[in-house]
Amino acid sequence: MFLKRIELQGFKSFADKSIITFDSDVTGIVGPNGCGKSNINDAIRWVLGEQSVKSLRGGNSMSDIIFSGSAQRKAVNLAEVTLVFDNTKRFFDIAYDEVEITRRLRRQNSEAEYLINKTPCRLKDITDLVMDTGLGRDSLSIITQGNISSFAEAKPEERRALFEEAAGVAKYKKRKNVSLHKLKNTQDNLARLEDIILELE
Ligand code: ATP
Repeated sequence: MFLKRIELQGFKSFADKSIITFDSDVTGIVGPNGCGKSNINDAIRWVLGEQSVKSLRGGNSMSDIIFSGSAQRKAVNLAEVTLVFDNTKRFFDIAYDEVEITRRLRRQNSEAEYLINKTPCRLKDITDLVMDTGLGRDSLSIITQGNISSFAEAKPEERRALFEEAAGVAKYKKRKNVSLHKLKNTQDNLARLEDIILELE
């Protein structure tokens, strides 16, 4: 998987449109404290579907991620971030050589918009697209400063969950839980159907 480019506009400290291009194997982002390095990490997780404002280091509302103004600039009303991936090796199961995933949020509307290759889609389409790639929002492909200390301090069962995620077992557990849930719903429906049949007889 190769993340070629990130385009940010109105996201946290990135008031103006900013394009960050990654064109070598290892890229380091350096800058003074508070200049917005971690905001880039937040932007990637946001596009991949992060729904927790807290884990994006915001306050109570998702609109906290929209540029809120500075001494020089007025606040803006729209945040938009696009991740552009090289897909020539078909890392994503989609027949395009480049995959663009976009998330957009307007201050007046708490519902975000999601797009894949500029076509509007649901959040589920994005989570499904990244689910098998190891790139999901809960995956270990993005490790934050806070993650390191929580790994070190994790309880054995929490650490086991991390190993399961790294080994690729976690996604099967998630799918199993979804299937068990559906099975339970079907069993409940069957029981209800039997009751109705008994009433009719
Ligand atoms: P450090 O090196 O100290 O970890 P950093 O370069 O990682 O810092 P970030 O944490 O990415 O910096 O950015 C923090 C900056 O982002 C702060 O100046 C904060 O005011 C700004 N910021 C965060 N959210 C918003 C927002 N919604 N609107 C405007 N600025 C914001």
